Amino acid sequence: RLILITGGSGYIGAHTVDSFLRHGYRVRLAGRSESSCQQMLATHSEHRKLIDTTVVPDITALGAFDSAVQGVDGVVHLASPFFHGFKDVEKDILLPAINGTTEILESIKKHAPQVRRTVITSSIAAILDLSKGIRPGHIYNESQWNPITHESAIQNPAVAYAASKKLAEEAAWNFIETEKPNFSLATLQPMMVYGPPFPGSTSISNLGTSANDIYVLMNGSLTQAPTTRLPVYVDVRDVAEAHRLAYETEGAGRFALCAGNFTKGQVCRLLRESGLGLENRVPSEGLDAENDLQSYSVDSSKA
Ligand code: NDP
Repeated sequence: RLILITGGSGYIGAHTVDSFLRHGYRVRLAGRSESSCQQMLATHSEHRKLIDTTVVPDITALGAFDSAVQGVDGVVHLASPFFHGFKDVEKDILLPAINGTTEILESIKKHAPQVRRTVITSSIAAILDLSKGIRPGHIYNESQWNPITHESAIQNPAVAYAASKKLAEEAAWNFIETEKPNFSLATLQPMMVYGPPFPGSTSISNLGTSANDIYVLMNGSLTQAPTTRLPVYVDVRDVAEAHRLAYETEGAGRFALCAGNFTKGQVCRLLRESGLGLENRVPSEGLDAENDLQSYSVDSSKA
């Protein structure tokens, strides 16, 4: 079976590509440039015979994926901007997330009628109601939606990423409802994704937003444990497996992916006690400040 995967050059994507390859799938990797495709081939060189690549320079262009989807059996779409410091909310974040999603669905419907299953990486950001803060005692699950709007994202760039994920996922479900394509859809809502980058896929300077959240706790840049803004996590290797299992599962649906709650202070403590000699580089202050952090939790039992 041949699976088209977008976002394979990223933190979660590299593990996801590996999961499909290890389970005997052939994969077609869509990258933004020829050099990105070459890097992905190098990362997964062990499985070189199972991989082909295709360059999709602009995922928002009309018909962007028309050629990429041809001949594939399934599609897994992870590509979406996840970085701080963008200049233009609409152009840099919202459009690639939303139109990247609708374009790939359009291309599948028009040019790959054989596809029966599509998996899209959404986010915890599509579930949480950010206006309610850490909401002690509340239990989120995949039946809930972030009420954030396009307009509020334009007005407040701090919530633009969350809005991009919510609006992209909503657009995907609207597409399924109105276009009634041949394929069913699964969307995944991972919490903050942590764990090791896939070997050979990246460098310390390019870890990705969430892995970098942990790296700053051990690179000597902080003396004080930072505040935990999103106190729920899941391991990147489990998220990768979840993408494959979602492809192999029948029936449409959303799946929240959560392993539990944590605080940054706990992570610092684990790093300090790891025996890896990190004591001089990991914050020693404020480790217990959030010990009694009462926040929402996430029910991931469906996944
Ligand atoms: P990374 O930044 O490591 O990877 C993002 C991937 O998307 C890369 O392959 C990148 O390609 C591609 N991409 C980003 N913007 C564009 C664009 N404008 N056009 C084409 N491709 C683009 O992030 P993650 O691996 O962490 O995230 C992967 C997915 O998981 C995203 O959809 C993200 O929203 C979602 N997610 C992540 C969570 C986390 O904690 N990490 C939590 C919940 C959801 P390139 O290499 O060319 O830049």
